[in-house]
Amino acid sequence: MPTSIQYSIDNADRIRFINEAWLQFACQNAGGHLNRAFIIGKSLWGFIEGENLRQTYGLIFKAVRTTHQAAILRFRCDSSLCRRYFQLTVSPLQEDELMLSIHSIREISRDPVLLLDPDVQRGDQVLTICSWCVKAWLPNDEWVELEEAVNRLDLLGSGVVPRLRHGLCQDCQVDIEKELKNLR
Ligand SMILES: [Zn+2]
Repeated sequence: MPTSIQYSIDNADRIRFINEAWLQFACQNAGGHLNRAFIIGKSLWGFIEGENLRQTYGLIFKAVRTTHQAAILRFRCDSSLCRRYFQLTVSPLQEDELMLSIHSIREISRDPVLLLDPDVQRGDQVLTICSWCVKAWLPNDEWVELEEAVNRLDLLGSGVVPRLRHGLCQDCQVDIEKELKNLR
């Protein structure tokens, strides 16, 4: 099991500290151009993709700062080859600073999912996926695993991989709100 990814932010949500595991993970997922000098002092919000996810993190930070209690949440951050399950702990520090620790709970290999390949060429079609559980949204308002979405929408029938838009599914929204209510 790899070391936990850890970082802290100040009271204005600027990144104060990142550990080595954070850098490694970010570089694997976003390319090799990230380094500590570039990241420290930057606003965290520039690193979080999608309005829904930014809002969700905003709610979590506010709840932890208000209650001075740690929030513990589970989420997924898959790669094309692996379902990856993580646990996030957001802990209060002094003066409204926060420490975020992310540790891997389990990884399950899967047949490669082209939709999550960062290097693949994409067409104009857009598929919304949940930033928290990596399920995809279907037009009948159902959220399903990516493999099922590919089959049901015949997403790769044309040979063109759709672009991804980041959203938040109802289940995750409810789970996160429930955890935050427990803090009060
Ligand atoms: Zn979700």
